[in-house]
Amino acid sequence: MLFCPKCGSLMTPKVEKGKKVLSCACGYTNKKISPEEARVKEVVKAAHSGSYDIVSEDDTTLPVTEALCPDCGHDKAYWWSKQTRASDEPETKFLKCEKCKNIWRDAG
Ligand SMILES: [Zn+2]
Ligand SMILES: [Zn+2]
Repeated sequence: MLFCPKCGSLMTPKVEKGKKVLSCACGYTNKKISPEEARVKEVVKAAHSGSYDIVSEDDTTLPVTEALCPDCGHDKAYWWSKQTRASDEPETKFLKCEKCKNIWRDAG
């Protein structure tokens, strides 16, 4: 639950232009996107860059390995590998931070 930073009343969720926002009776709206939404955007962004594939599997089914996240420094990440479009290239290993959900390619 969140309270309005302006007047201190309890804020209620509502949908505005297809987005979930928290609003208050005083007119204040919290337009900050939810973590779930941020994650979807991150994956979409990654897909558009052409470098990464979307993780179709659920996170919990992915194996976890010790890897240092370049974003937040967390030392555990989910990993999976994908064959890139060029079949003569070796499999690429992808890592996804367990904590901040950052996705990066394993350089090694
Ligand atoms: Zn308010
Ligand atoms: Zn991280």
